[in-house]
Amino acid sequence: MKVGIMGGTFDPIHIGHMLAAESARDAYGLDEVWFMPSHIPPHKEDAGVTGLMRLEMTAEAIAGHPSFRTLDWEVKRGGVSYTVDTVRELRNTYPEHDFSFIIGADMVAYLPKWDRITELAGMLTFIGVNRPGTNLSVEALPDFLQTAVVTAEMPMIEISSTMIRNRAAAGSSIRYMVPDRVYDYIVRSGIYGIQP
Ligand code: ATP
Ligand code: MG
Repeated sequence: MKVGIMGGTFDPIHIGHMLAAESARDAYGLDEVWFMPSHIPPHKEDAGVTGLMRLEMTAEAIAGHPSFRTLDWEVKRGGVSYTVDTVRELRNTYPEHDFSFIIGADMVAYLPKWDRITELAGMLTFIGVNRPGTNLSVEALPDFLQTAVVTAEMPMIEISSTMIRNRAAAGSSIRYMVPDRVYDYIVRSGIYGIQP
């Protein structure tokens, strides 16, 4: 089985994440995509809302897609989430699965700085998708990474979780930037300072 891991902080999950996952699934015939919120990513401050809420929003976002799943490992483990540790565990638990990891262009450019990236790049393929703000360039990567990264096309979506948090806090609409069920969850939970 071919499984794409869609990792992120998902604070909140938005349509850019959904389209990245669906585009990678479609381009490479992935059987499933597992959405995995990180607890605390190495490159970020602690997320604004709890891991559990980010996991619940992710579950709302994927509801109804026949091949999307959530993976709660990093949130459950707590602490700083290192992808390399999670992927090693995934391969031990599911030795028969063929894993890839879906990332946007900003993360493709940042790959050389990922913790123990040489080890990680030996364990799976990265599927990079375009994202406004950073050129999706495999050639710009060091040699050992060029062979570990493939790309998939997606419509440019100029939306980030940061933009959504800022808009919500400022009283601007975030409707349709997140899946409807995620919007309902945010309003229901009163997070991000949203005014319905
Ligand atoms: P933040 O603004 O908090 O950093 P974000 O929108 O960048 O949030 P993340 O959770 O950091 O979302 O991203 C998870 C993954 O999704 C990363 O690989 C990122 O590159 C990718 N991604 C996020 N938004 C988009 C988008 N609009 N288009 C393509 N890829 C995206
Ligand atoms: Mg980001």
